[in-house]
Amino acid sequence: MTDANVSKDVAGRAAGSRGSTGSEGPGGSARPDQGFFAELLAPVAGFGVSFSTMFRKVATEEYPEKPRPTAPRFHGRHQLNRWPDGLEKCIGCELCAWACPADAILVEGADNDDTPLEEGGTGRFAPGERYGRVYQINYLRCIFCGMCIEACPTRALTMTNFYELADNDRAKLIFTKDQLLAPPEDGMLTPPFPMAEGRSVRDYYRGKVESPTEGQREYVQQRDAGAQTDHPSATTGEGATP
Ligand code: SF4
Ligand code: SF4
Repeated sequence: MTDANVSKDVAGRAAGSRGSTGSEGPGGSARPDQGFFAELLAPVAGFGVSFSTMFRKVATEEYPEKPRPTAPRFHGRHQLNRWPDGLEKCIGCELCAWACPADAILVEGADNDDTPLEEGGTGRFAPGERYGRVYQINYLRCIFCGMCIEACPTRALTMTNFYELADNDRAKLIFTKDQLLAPPEDGMLTPPFPMAEGRSVRDYYRGKVESPTEGQREYVQQRDAGAQTDHPSATTGEGATP
Protein backbone atom coordinates (compact mmCIF):
# COMPACT_ATOMS: atom_id res chain seq x y z
CA MET A 1 0.00 0.00 0.00
CA THR A 2 1.37 3.45 -0.97
CA ASP A 3 1.58 6.43 1.41
CA ALA A 4 -1.39 8.10 -0.34
CA ASN A 5 -3.59 5.02 0.12
CA VAL A 6 -2.63 4.74 3.79
CA SER A 7 -3.63 8.40 4.35
CA LYS A 8 -7.03 7.84 2.72
CA ASP A 9 -7.62 4.70 4.79
CA VAL A 10 -6.85 6.46 8.09
CA ALA A 11 -9.00 9.45 7.17
CA GLY A 12 -11.89 7.15 6.27
CA ARG A 13 -11.74 5.35 9.61
CA ALA A 14 -11.65 8.64 11.50
CA ALA A 15 -14.74 9.80 9.64
CA GLY A 16 -16.55 6.54 10.44
CA SER A 17 -15.66 6.90 14.07
CA ARG A 18 -17.01 10.44 14.23
CA GLY A 19 -20.22 9.31 12.61
CA SER A 20 -20.99 6.56 15.17
CA THR A 21 -23.42 7.12 18.04
CA GLY A 22 -22.98 6.32 21.77
CA SER A 23 -25.16 3.19 21.42
CA GLU A 24 -22.69 1.46 19.12
CA GLY A 25 -19.91 -0.73 20.32
CA PRO A 26 -16.31 -0.63 19.25
CA GLY A 27 -17.03 -2.73 16.21
CA GLY A 28 -19.95 -0.54 15.20
CA SER A 29 -22.67 -3.01 16.39
CA ALA A 30 -25.57 -1.54 18.38
CA ARG A 31 -26.01 -2.44 22.07
CA PRO A 32 -29.44 -3.81 23.14
CA ASP A 33 -31.70 -1.23 24.70
CA GLN A 34 -31.51 -1.67 28.51
CA GLY A 35 -34.78 -0.03 29.31
CA PHE A 36 -35.65 2.76 31.72
CA PHE A 37 -35.66 0.76 34.98
CA ALA A 38 -32.48 -1.15 34.13
CA GLU A 39 -30.64 2.11 33.56
CA LEU A 40 -32.17 3.54 36.75
CA LEU A 41 -30.97 0.63 38.89
CA ALA A 42 -27.61 0.16 37.21
CA PRO A 43 -25.68 2.39 39.66
CA VAL A 44 -26.78 0.28 42.66
CA ALA A 45 -26.66 -3.12 40.96
CA GLY A 46 -23.14 -3.70 42.27
CA PHE A 47 -24.45 -3.64 45.83
CA GLY A 48 -26.35 -6.82 45.08
CA VAL A 49 -23.11 -8.77 45.10
CA SER A 50 -22.19 -7.39 48.52
CA PHE A 51 -25.69 -8.02 49.85
CA SER A 52 -25.82 -11.63 48.72
CA THR A 53 -22.34 -12.26 50.18
CA MET A 54 -23.62 -11.26 53.61
CA PHE A 55 -25.61 -14.50 53.78
CA ARG A 56 -22.79 -16.83 52.74
CA LYS A 57 -20.66 -18.84 55.18
CA VAL A 58 -17.83 -16.68 56.56
CA ALA A 59 -14.39 -17.85 55.39
CA THR A 60 -12.43 -15.54 57.68
CA GLU A 61 -10.12 -17.38 60.11
CA GLU A 62 -9.91 -15.92 63.57
CA TYR A 63 -6.17 -16.24 63.95
CA PRO A 64 -4.53 -16.14 66.45
CA GLU A 65 -7.54 -16.47 68.76
CA LYS A 66 -8.77 -19.66 67.08
CA PRO A 67 -5.95 -21.18 65.01
CA ARG A 68 -7.06 -23.96 62.73
CA PRO A 69 -5.31 -27.34 62.99
CA THR A 70 -2.74 -27.99 60.28
CA ALA A 71 -2.65 -30.90 57.91
CA PRO A 72 -1.31 -34.03 59.67
CA ARG A 73 1.96 -34.03 57.70
CA PHE A 74 2.55 -30.29 57.90
CA HIS A 75 6.24 -29.40 58.21
CA GLY A 76 6.63 -27.33 61.35
CA ARG A 77 9.20 -26.87 64.06
CA HIS A 78 11.67 -29.71 64.61
CA GLN A 79 11.89 -31.97 67.62
CA LEU A 80 14.70 -34.15 68.96
CA ASN A 81 13.21 -37.38 70.27
CA ARG A 82 14.02 -39.71 73.14
CA TRP A 83 14.01 -43.45 73.72
CA PRO A 84 11.33 -44.78 76.08
CA ASP A 85 13.72 -44.64 79.05
CA GLY A 86 14.56 -40.98 78.39
CA LEU A 87 17.95 -41.33 76.68
CA GLU A 88 18.33 -39.21 73.56
CA LYS A 89 18.06 -40.69 70.07
CA CYS A 90 20.49 -38.25 68.48
CA ILE A 91 23.94 -39.75 68.01
CA GLY A 92 25.61 -36.55 66.81
CA CYS A 93 26.38 -37.94 63.35
CA GLU A 94 25.76 -34.58 61.59
CA LEU A 95 23.98 -36.22 58.64
CA CYS A 96 21.08 -33.82 59.08
CA ALA A 97 23.43 -30.86 58.90
CA TRP A 98 25.07 -32.18 55.73
CA ALA A 99 21.68 -32.83 54.10
CA CYS A 100 20.34 -29.37 54.84
CA PRO A 101 20.29 -27.25 51.67
CA ALA A 102 20.00 -24.04 53.68
CA ASP A 103 22.92 -24.74 56.02
CA ALA A 104 20.56 -24.16 58.93
CA ILE A 105 21.74 -26.91 61.30
CA LEU A 106 24.75 -26.97 63.58
CA VAL A 107 25.67 -30.25 65.32
CA GLU A 108 28.62 -31.06 67.51
CA GLY A 109 28.83 -34.64 68.69
CA ALA A 110 30.65 -35.93 71.75
CA ASP A 111 31.46 -39.29 73.34
CA ASN A 112 29.16 -40.80 75.91
CA ASP A 113 31.07 -41.46 79.09
CA ASP A 114 30.13 -44.12 81.64
CA THR A 115 32.79 -42.93 84.09
CA PRO A 116 31.02 -41.91 87.33
CA LEU A 117 30.28 -38.22 87.36
CA GLU A 118 32.07 -37.72 90.69
CA GLU A 119 35.20 -39.11 89.07
CA GLY A 120 35.09 -36.59 86.26
CA GLY A 121 32.88 -38.44 83.80
CA THR A 122 30.66 -36.40 81.51
CA GLY A 123 27.81 -38.90 81.56
CA ARG A 124 25.77 -40.89 79.08
CA PHE A 125 23.05 -39.10 77.11
CA ALA A 126 22.34 -41.66 74.37
CA PRO A 127 22.80 -45.39 73.85
CA GLY A 128 25.95 -46.23 71.95
CA GLU A 129 29.15 -44.33 71.45
CA ARG A 130 28.16 -40.74 70.67
CA TYR A 131 25.47 -38.17 71.34
CA GLY A 132 24.66 -34.70 70.07
CA ARG A 133 26.31 -32.35 72.56
CA VAL A 134 25.43 -29.18 70.67
CA TYR A 135 22.41 -28.96 68.40
CA GLN A 136 21.06 -25.79 66.84
CA ILE A 137 18.60 -25.00 64.05
CA ASN A 138 18.53 -21.53 62.56
CA TYR A 139 14.91 -20.77 61.70
CA LEU A 140 15.96 -17.65 59.84
CA ARG A 141 17.41 -20.02 57.24
CA CYS A 142 15.23 -23.12 57.46
CA ILE A 143 12.86 -23.61 54.53
CA PHE A 144 11.05 -26.56 56.18
CA CYS A 145 11.89 -28.90 53.32
CA GLY A 146 12.29 -31.94 55.58
CA MET A 147 15.57 -33.13 54.04
CA CYS A 148 17.15 -33.28 57.49
CA ILE A 149 14.57 -35.65 58.91
CA GLU A 150 14.89 -37.88 55.86
CA ALA A 151 18.65 -38.04 56.42
CA CYS A 152 18.49 -38.86 60.13
CA PRO A 153 19.38 -42.54 60.60
CA THR A 154 17.89 -42.88 64.08
CA ARG A 155 14.60 -40.98 63.71
CA ALA A 156 15.96 -38.68 66.36
CA LEU A 157 14.86 -35.68 64.35
CA THR A 158 11.25 -35.21 63.33
CA MET A 159 9.03 -32.24 62.58
CA THR A 160 6.05 -31.08 64.61
CA ASN A 161 3.01 -29.12 63.43
CA PHE A 162 4.07 -26.00 65.32
CA TYR A 163 4.48 -23.03 62.98
CA GLU A 164 4.41 -19.86 65.09
CA LEU A 165 8.05 -19.03 64.58
CA ALA A 166 8.00 -15.27 64.03
CA ASP A 167 9.94 -12.89 66.26
CA ASN A 168 11.42 -9.42 66.15
CA ASP A 169 14.70 -10.68 67.60
CA ARG A 170 16.83 -12.65 65.15
CA ALA A 171 18.81 -14.35 67.91
CA LYS A 172 15.64 -15.92 69.32
CA LEU A 173 15.07 -17.78 66.07
CA ILE A 174 18.19 -19.87 66.51
CA PHE A 175 16.81 -22.76 68.53
CA THR A 176 19.21 -24.67 70.75
CA LYS A 177 19.15 -28.26 71.93
CA ASP A 178 17.30 -27.54 75.15
CA GLN A 179 14.49 -25.97 73.08
CA LEU A 180 14.40 -28.71 70.45
CA LEU A 181 14.70 -31.72 72.74
CA ALA A 182 11.34 -33.31 73.51
CA PRO A 183 10.48 -32.99 77.20
CA PRO A 184 10.56 -36.32 79.04
CA GLU A 185 7.20 -38.06 78.96
CA ASP A 186 5.65 -39.59 82.06
CA GLY A 187 7.98 -42.19 83.51
CA MET A 188 11.02 -41.14 81.50
CA LEU A 189 14.25 -40.15 83.21
CA THR A 190 16.44 -37.17 82.41
CA PRO A 191 19.96 -37.97 81.18
CA PRO A 192 22.74 -38.48 81.97
CA PHE A 193 22.25 -42.08 83.15
CA PRO A 194 23.48 -45.51 82.00
CA MET A 195 21.87 -47.70 79.38
CA ALA A 196 19.31 -50.26 80.50
CA GLU A 197 21.05 -53.15 82.24
CA GLY A 198 21.56 -56.16 80.05
CA ARG A 199 20.52 -54.31 76.93
CA SER A 200 22.64 -53.50 73.90
CA VAL A 201 22.34 -50.59 71.51
CA ARG A 202 20.57 -52.89 69.05
CA ASP A 203 17.97 -53.69 71.68
CA TYR A 204 17.03 -50.02 71.74
CA TYR A 205 16.52 -50.02 67.98
CA ARG A 206 14.58 -53.30 68.19
CA GLY A 207 12.14 -51.72 70.63
CA LYS A 208 13.12 -53.99 73.53
CA VAL A 209 13.58 -51.06 75.92
CA GLU A 210 10.10 -49.86 76.80
CA SER A 211 10.68 -47.94 80.03
CA PRO A 212 13.45 -47.11 82.51
CA THR A 213 14.79 -50.03 84.51
CA GLU A 214 15.12 -50.14 88.30
CA GLY A 215 18.88 -49.71 87.98
CA GLN A 216 18.44 -46.57 85.90
CA ARG A 217 15.91 -45.14 88.36
CA GLU A 218 18.21 -45.75 91.32
CA TYR A 219 21.11 -44.15 89.47
CA VAL A 220 19.11 -41.03 88.73
CA GLN A 221 17.79 -40.83 92.30
CA GLN A 222 21.31 -41.03 93.69
CA ARG A 223 22.55 -38.57 91.10
CA ASP A 224 19.86 -36.05 91.93
CA ALA A 225 20.24 -36.54 95.67
CA GLY A 226 24.00 -36.21 95.70
CA ALA A 227 26.66 -33.81 94.67
CA GLN A 228 26.35 -35.02 91.08
CA THR A 229 23.48 -32.60 90.55
CA ASP A 230 26.03 -29.81 90.55
CA HIS A 231 27.56 -31.21 87.36
CA PRO A 232 27.07 -28.79 84.43
CA SER A 233 25.77 -31.53 82.14
CA ALA A 234 22.98 -32.67 84.45
CA THR A 235 20.13 -31.74 82.08
CA THR A 236 20.62 -31.78 78.32
CA GLY A 237 24.34 -32.17 77.92
CA GLU A 238 24.64 -29.04 75.77
CA GLY A 239 27.61 -27.08 76.92
CA ALA A 240 29.17 -30.01 78.77
CA THR A 241 32.87 -30.50 78.27
CA PRO A 242 33.47 -33.79 76.48
S1 SF4 B 1 13.81 -28.58 57.06
FE1 SF4 B 1 15.23 -28.34 55.30
S2 SF4 B 1 16.04 -26.25 55.51
FE2 SF4 B 1 15.09 -26.78 57.50
S3 SF4 B 1 16.78 -27.58 58.75
FE3 SF4 B 1 15.81 -29.34 57.73
S4 SF4 B 1 16.98 -29.67 55.82
FE4 SF4 B 1 17.46 -27.59 56.59
S1 SF4 C 1 19.46 -35.54 64.44
FE1 SF4 C 1 19.83 -37.49 63.39
S2 SF4 C 1 21.07 -36.97 61.59
FE2 SF4 C 1 21.16 -35.20 63.00
S3 SF4 C 1 23.01 -35.54 64.22
FE3 SF4 C 1 21.30 -36.43 65.36
S4 SF4 C 1 21.23 -38.59 64.74
FE4 SF4 C 1 22.50 -37.51 63.23
